[in-house]
Amino acid sequence: MTIVSSKKFKMLAAVLLVFAIVAGASTTMSKTVEATCSHRFATRTPLTYPTCSSAGINRCYCPECHYTWYESVPKTAHNYLRNIIRYPTCYQTGTAIYTCSSCGHSYSETLPKTSHQMYSIYRNGHTEWYCSICNHRFS
Ligand SMILES: [Zn+2]
Ligand SMILES: [Zn+2]
Ligand SMILES: [Zn+2]
Repeated sequence: MTIVSSKKFKMLAAVLLVFAIVAGASTTMSKTVEATCSHRFATRTPLTYPTCSSAGINRCYCPECHYTWYESVPKTAHNYLRNIIRYPTCYQTGTAIYTCSSCGHSYSETLPKTSHQMYSIYRNGHTEWYCSICNHRFS
């Protein structure tokens, strides 16, 4: 009983030792990478400015380690202009077109129907209801 458990313990200890070596090795490796250069004073020169349709490119240079590399700059946001080509009514949805003034990319948006704007007129002894948008008479 005690012999078996001691064997198990030895195996466990051996496994833990292997883990410790692997973990130790990887820690040493990452420390070596960090110790090279953090490029703290790196300068960035734009080679290509980003637009809304393509990413830009910066050339980076580190004066400490004299390393040059390139990094991409994210695209800028589209500059959409809204143009309503069909105004919504009480019976029909409308349509708006958004077009980017820089690259021409466009998409459409459905505008919800308007709701009736009711008003009443008292005429000939009873009340008549109309919509001020579509002029529909309801009673
Ligand atoms: Zn550097
Ligand atoms: Zn655009
Ligand atoms: Zn209406």
